[in-house]
Amino acid sequence: MIIQKTSNSRIGDFDPNNIGFGAAFIDHMIICEYENGKWGDVKLMPYGPLPFTPAMMGVNYGQACFEGMKAYKDKDGEVYLFRPEKNFERINKSAKRLAMPEITEEMFIDGLKALVDVDRAWIPYGEGKSLYLRPLIFATEEALKARISNKYMFAIVATPVQSYYTEPVSVKISDYYSRAASGGVGNAKAAGNYAAAFYPTKLANEEGYEQIIWTDDATHEYFEESGTMNVFVRINDTIYTPPTSDKILDGVTRDSFIQLAKKRGIDIKVEPIEVAKVVEAHKNGELKEVWGVGTAVVTTAFKALGYKDEKLVLPILSDEESFAISLKKNLVDIQTNQSEDPFGWRV
Ligand code: PMP
Repeated sequence: MIIQKTSNSRIGDFDPNNIGFGAAFIDHMIICEYENGKWGDVKLMPYGPLPFTPAMMGVNYGQACFEGMKAYKDKDGEVYLFRPEKNFERINKSAKRLAMPEITEEMFIDGLKALVDVDRAWIPYGEGKSLYLRPLIFATEEALKARISNKYMFAIVATPVQSYYTEPVSVKISDYYSRAASGGVGNAKAAGNYAAAFYPTKLANEEGYEQIIWTDDATHEYFEESGTMNVFVRINDTIYTPPTSDKILDGVTRDSFIQLAKKRGIDIKVEPIEVAKVVEAHKNGELKEVWGVGTAVVTTAFKALGYKDEKLVLPILSDEESFAISLKKNLVDIQTNQSEDPFGWRV
């Protein structure tokens, strides 16, 4: 790895008690360039803009994918990544689906470790605080023919974050727009997936919903994801989450919730969730909780589901009654080294 440290640290301007999401980037970044069929040296260098042309293929044809993960600091100042090998596997799955070159485990894991190590001082400590890491790969070749690019960049940038307690939100069950299609790229973290979701989400926002529960593109009768999170539904004391597919992102938080629930002996079923079943359970008073999970906020609870002309209002559970809240606590305790790590997830 080529190491080029900044002589001009901005850490003095950083206030760990006043963190926005993605507002300040740490002093350094990782970059690595691909050409002539191979990746070059990984370089750790000062964070900042790079020269690109608008004729760059990544911005024209969308060969771009990314990851989202975090580094956590414990009370002794020790720093942990959470299951980084899952993100490594997923970025390569995304790259492969977008006809981009895969990266090596050394580039990804050693790059993350070097970056987190050099900018340890930027990692805030405290409830909900962490360093958000954004590895990404994008096409850099200057060419306008619609074809696979011959040049790419792998990069990692990072920003300190504070995820505030989020109030339960209202979500709209989509009966028209889709996030993903069979045979498409829904299970890749393709940049274009996010672009395509913005407009329907904006319309839902205008109707008073914070997020969309994405349903299957063929019938809109089955739950898939919620916003940029995987979705869980609790009917009586059973938790349901849809199986992953080419339309559903294989979320690290989702997988962790499933394993934690199983370990606690909670009845959890990975099976398709029919919208009609959720509506029926609500009618019978059996629908207890619906929530989304993802790296950014771990859990977002839903207080109401909009479906066609109906609004299904969910009960308000105490922290003790809620599976969403107690599973979140189990997970955060592992991530931040406040509990044992029976699964070996901390790195
Ligand atoms: N689904 C989508 C579409 C996402 O963007 C994310 C965030 N990466 C997730 C689910 C949750 O995945 P993870 O738990 O790995 O953050």
